[in-house]
Amino acid sequence: MARRFPGGTLIVASHNQGKVREIRELLAPFGVTPVSAGDRGLPEPEETGTTFEANAELKALAAATATGEVALADDSGLEVDALDLDPGIYSARWAGPSKDFAAAMQAVWSKAEASGKPKPYTARFVAALTLAWPDGHCETFRGTIEGTLVWPPRGTRGFGYDPMFLPEGAAETFGKMDQDAKHAISHRAVAFRKLIEACFGT
Ligand code: IMP
Repeated sequence: MARRFPGGTLIVASHNQGKVREIRELLAPFGVTPVSAGDRGLPEPEETGTTFEANAELKALAAATATGEVALADDSGLEVDALDLDPGIYSARWAGPSKDFAAAMQAVWSKAEASGKPKPYTARFVAALTLAWPDGHCETFRGTIEGTLVWPPRGTRGFGYDPMFLPEGAAETFGKMDQDAKHAISHRAVAFRKLIEACFGT
């Protein structure tokens, strides 16, 4: 049995405004009003884990122990099969300190082209979500969405690699898709459904 969210404040241990916004929207139906780690002035811990799950847990635990409140963190990224699952846990880092995702998308596409692997380039977004308590307990869930890469990027919605990711069975990229439509099927939504069922549901 998973440990359940006790109610009250939930710290969202992310400094990525795109993700905080998405998490807020996903949690709104459950009457939870998340507070971002940035609003609490918490520092961003270094992501030293070698898996999405390890990074989600270290971020959530850092926020939970610093605040004494339950904290939620996610770690996510894009795995490209032609790149042996890169950029993976380094997806944010590929955009550099200026968070230049046009350059990061270009790098992904160029490396996929250089790999000699056949098109379409298959890829998936992965999200690990951790709910952590100040006593060190963690509940962690993984969600994925499969798709292929397109070039040039299409659309200006969403964030990160959204404009080059065409979800399986979809007519348009995450960058063109209505954000409600993205939230219904995204890797974070899949992980969220598992988390909500285990820790928030009735
Ligand atoms: P994190 O903050 O270490 O989890 O970095 C996640 C990075 O993966 C983001 O900065 C994006 O580059 C990428 N990423 C994760 N989720 C998405 C998504 O839904 N759309 C586009 N890019 C994403």
